[in-house]
Amino acid sequence: MDHNIPAVISVIQYIYDNIMYAELNTRSDYCQVCGFEGEIKTVEDNGKMVWECPNCGNRNENKMNVARRTCGYIGTNFWNQGRTQEISERVLHL
Ligand SMILES: [Zn+2]
Repeated sequence: MDHNIPAVISVIQYIYDNIMYAELNTRSDYCQVCGFEGEIKTVEDNGKMVWECPNCGNRNENKMNVARRTCGYIGTNFWNQGRTQEISERVLHL
């Protein structure tokens, strides 16, 4: 995993100087099958978006933990297809 500490410090400095309230979120994904702690991503399977561990290929939502911000709140339940698609298309800026 790459770390861009100068970018993080720059963002925090900008927030401190210009914004009264802001928060940063980090991912806390976990695959219960293989112990993978990186980002669990979505893949398309017959036109449906499904969550898949990139390490072991686990797609069982009962054997993985995925947390994402949706509508202002951190959610850990799995989402409908529309929301899953929206989450999949998000861009990480750092
Ligand atoms: Zn896994």
